[in-house]
Amino acid sequence: MNAVEQLAIVKEKIAAAEREAKRPTGSATLVAVSKTFDADAIRPVIEAGQRVFGENRVQEAQGKWPALKAEFPDIELHLIGPLQSNKAKEAVALFDAIETVDREKIAAELAKEIARQGRMPKLYVQVNTGSEPQKAGIEPREAVAFVRRCRETHGLAIEGLMCIPPLDENPGPHFALLAKLAKEAGVDKLSMGMSGDYELAVAFGATSVRVGSAIFGAR
Ligand SMILES: *Cc1c(COP(=O)(O)O)cnc(C)c1O
Repeated sequence: MNAVEQLAIVKEKIAAAEREAKRPTGSATLVAVSKTFDADAIRPVIEAGQRVFGENRVQEAQGKWPALKAEFPDIELHLIGPLQSNKAKEAVALFDAIETVDREKIAAELAKEIARQGRMPKLYVQVNTGSEPQKAGIEPREAVAFVRRCRETHGLAIEGLMCIPPLDENPGPHFALLAKLAKEAGVDKLSMGMSGDYELAVAFGATSVRVGSAIFGAR
């Protein structure tokens, strides 16, 4: 199956999961993760109507998205990979949402660039729900205070939380933890769920799911 056919299947499964969870149709947004795929592979998916995309590297995204965004101005591009503070300028210039705010230094750099450029991407705090040492994200026990500091110290409008559960664990408890932390932090957007578990994430309240290989194929 090609990416456009896979896209239709993923969208239908999201709609079914919304119905199952008694959630309104369209309440979980599909972020199509196009990392490693080039513009020629992405274009048919855009032409099929998909408008929200995710990339995990600033530099890779800079190579393909400026031209696509010029052609399709209503595209919404999400940064879902770790952000280095020396890339904050480029990230604020290109992305419409940055889902990986996870430390003070990044918050400060983003605040500076948002003020300088007058561009205001949506912002999410990434939470390392499994406390994995190799993984980005703020520790769960620090997440609520960090969201508060982003707001109060840096003036950032954090809209939601994002997580990537450990590969080898049942993701359900991680989705539940993220939802609980979001409630405590007073944010209502939840970015969770990937190709293997997006329907479960919808059941746990995901407002966006990040699906790559189930649409574009193996990387
Ligand atoms: C690659 C990636 C995804 C998509 O993963 P698939 O398993 O291909 O759906 C989602 N979120 C993040 C943060 C990623 O880096």
